[in-house]
Amino acid sequence: MIVNRFIPFRGFTAINLFGLIFVRRGMTFTDVELRHERIHTRQMLELLVLPFYLWYVLEWLVRLILTRDAFRAYHSISFEREAFAHQSDPDYLHRRRHFVWLRYYAFSNKTIC
Ligand SMILES: [Zn+2]
Repeated sequence: MIVNRFIPFRGFTAINLFGLIFVRRGMTFTDVELRHERIHTRQMLELLVLPFYLWYVLEWLVRLILTRDAFRAYHSISFEREAFAHQSDPDYLHRRRHFVWLRYYAFSNKTIC
């Protein structure tokens, strides 16, 4: 975790770039948020980093078209759904199985939150 005064842009707390978590100085970054970002780091490594970002953006765009709601589309991305579901569990990364985010990859209205 790298605390600094430039990344991310003002108004944002943290960003995970290629597995490095940048936290804007002066912002509160909780253990839960750190676990959330560490789950994303695992997902990135499973997809060899760059395909993670491509998949992430494409899935968000598809869900945006389906939901017509940017916030809802973001929360329904499979990577985010896994991270939000387990960010409060301190032991999750110890027992997490590879590619488990695929279980959250469903397009039915029932599963899009
Ligand atoms: Zn996230």
